[in-house]
Amino acid sequence: MYRIWISPPHLSGKEMEYIADAFRKNWITTQGDNVTGFEQDIQSYLGETTEAVVVNSGTSALHLALMLLDVKKNDNVICQDFTFAATVNPIVYLGAKPVLVDSEKQTWNISPAFLEKAVQDCIQKGKKPKVIIWVNLYGMPAQIREIREIAQKYDIALLEDAAESFGSSYQGKKCGTFGDISVFSFNGNKIITTSGGGALLSADKNHIRKARSLASQARDEAHWYQHSRIGYNYGMSNIIAGIGRGQMTALEDRVEARRHNHRFYKEAFAGIAGVTVHQEPDKHYLSNHWLSCLLIEPELTGGIDCGILREKLTEAGIEARFLWKPMHLQPVFKKCPFYGDGTSENLFRKGLCLPSGSNLTEKERNEIAQVIKNILSRE
Ligand SMILES: *Cc1c(COP(=O)(O)O)cnc(C)c1O
Repeated sequence: MYRIWISPPHLSGKEMEYIADAFRKNWITTQGDNVTGFEQDIQSYLGETTEAVVVNSGTSALHLALMLLDVKKNDNVICQDFTFAATVNPIVYLGAKPVLVDSEKQTWNISPAFLEKAVQDCIQKGKKPKVIIWVNLYGMPAQIREIREIAQKYDIALLEDAAESFGSSYQGKKCGTFGDISVFSFNGNKIITTSGGGALLSADKNHIRKARSLASQARDEAHWYQHSRIGYNYGMSNIIAGIGRGQMTALEDRVEARRHNHRFYKEAFAGIAGVTVHQEPDKHYLSNHWLSCLLIEPELTGGIDCGILREKLTEAGIEARFLWKPMHLQPVFKKCPFYGDGTSENLFRKGLCLPSGSNLTEKERNEIAQVIKNILSRE
């Protein structure tokens, strides 16, 4: 067990009031005031015309999104290679084919150059991709302008996996508002949590209406139970949504706290050869810095690599994690087509995520920095 975790839940103290309200009203089901309240809280935070449907996980939201974007058996779906498996799995649930695209070096997200190459190649082989899925990994917005230009040029739908980027923004606009459909996760380690949960976001009222229907067994409008298509039981419980409402009251603070962690690490490791903290390319990008990440170049650290660093941190009771192992290197996805130049693989071999919780204390931050500096000082 660790003393310092990478991204533990951080409660605001308001959660129990909303949960108590559900109990008081005996409203212990998948609809109710907390569900609608949580959806409204998310909508007012995002502004724009985006609407939200909360569901039982980010993965369910992605699954629903792909169905709404008409993904069917044997369709090609382009997907960012450098991500968590939950981004890709729903493509396979639908019998469609993931086409994996490598990252660029600035934001670590899908490379627009390889994206266009993948699109052209699919078209040439007679099967234009149905959807492009990109991720704002570790909270860092992708090169969204370039991605949208490609989607427009070839007329392909965009799905934004914003599971890690609630509270981030790009060119002044919030992440979660950029896809034809976008998705959040409220899993236990995300920037805000409901223990488990997710949201599907869209400005298209048709998508929102259909998402609600599909998430609750696709009932037709009739006085009896009638069904014209297959539905799912993906709704969020009114109790769980109460946690979400309590968490929403603190979202701005949580973003600021995680950004503070990131500033601290950037300063702490500024003078150390072979260590770089992943950061925004320029002022158009604002990351919530869900996780602060390092790249370690063992040629410059006297052979200390991210594996050694992780082991030493673990010995000190500090949880650190390797970056996501790219999907094209996963046994389960190894047969998927892949377009890239080794960028995500290189990041995976050199990178480490540090404790980044919004409840991390100054003392803990100093301790983490000290442990890392001690390992890296070569005398
Ligand atoms: C957490 C996460 C998901 C899945 O969300 P769940 O709520 O755990 O199902 C999807 N994509 C990314 C990038 C994630 O980090």
